[in-house]
Amino acid sequence: MTGSKNKLALIIGGSRGIGRAIVLRLAQEGFDIWFTCRSNMEAAQKVQAEVEKIGRECRVFSFDIADYNAVKLALEKQVDTRVPDAVVYNAGISKDNLFVFMTREEWDSVLHTNLDGFYHVMHTVIFPMLREKRGRIVIIASTSGEIGQAGQVNYSASKAGLIGAAKALAREVARKNIFVNVVSPGVIETEMTKDLPKDKILPLIPLQRFGSADEVASIVAFLCTEKHMYIHGQVIGVNGGLAI
Ligand code: NDP
Repeated sequence: MTGSKNKLALIIGGSRGIGRAIVLRLAQEGFDIWFTCRSNMEAAQKVQAEVEKIGRECRVFSFDIADYNAVKLALEKQVDTRVPDAVVYNAGISKDNLFVFMTREEWDSVLHTNLDGFYHVMHTVIFPMLREKRGRIVIIASTSGEIGQAGQVNYSASKAGLIGAAKALAREVARKNIFVNVVSPGVIETEMTKDLPKDKILPLIPLQRFGSADEVASIVAFLCTEKHMYIHGQVIGVNGGLAI
């Protein structure tokens, strides 16, 4: 049991990419960190060491967000004992294919992970947060969920679903002093985008470059820490102008 007086942030999917940047940024902002990964413990332990170097407590949880029982088993008791002040739902996968060729597995795995995962995680954490009558929730969606992307019917559907879910949840929990917002990245330099054809994509982005994970983490940190807060139920694009 910890005696820490710091605020606590729970980041779902913090071992790599955007999630890792969010973990480190929130640690720098003064939060103790609990973060999750699916299986990449080697990467997760490196991130944990970086957080501890910043001087914050850090715990790592490993489970598949698509598995309801695994999520409950890993988190339910923990979040009841120490309720997170901020929850960032960042984990997600893509399995791109033109819809006409899209397999049932490609559809199911993306929807089960990205959208069902939201239910599994948020349903586990929301009751303790309501009890505490405070908190910040940030959901990571995608520009694909706002404007659609060819080859990503499954992924766009899952991210559009997250936007709808976050907006509805925002209406339900506002009076308990819980803020819910969505951050919607465009194309960000991570493992998920490393094989994309840059020459074809850059002309579509007015800023003519991919974004960085730190640029996404920056707005997430703002939404988790800003004291003078009147932003609620909003979708904030971090996309270099890809969607205007
Ligand atoms: P990465 O693939 O680099 O990292 C994904 C993270 O999510 C890892 O921590 C991974 O854990 C975890 N994760 C993936 N699947 C599961 C699962 N089934 N159960 C538990 N954890 C899981 O992704 P990015 O950093 O690129 O993306 C982060 C989020 O941002 C995603 O939701 C993505 O859709 C969204 N996004 C990304 C964009 C981009 O350009 N990169 C653009 C728009 C949105 P592990 O390390 O163990 O695999």
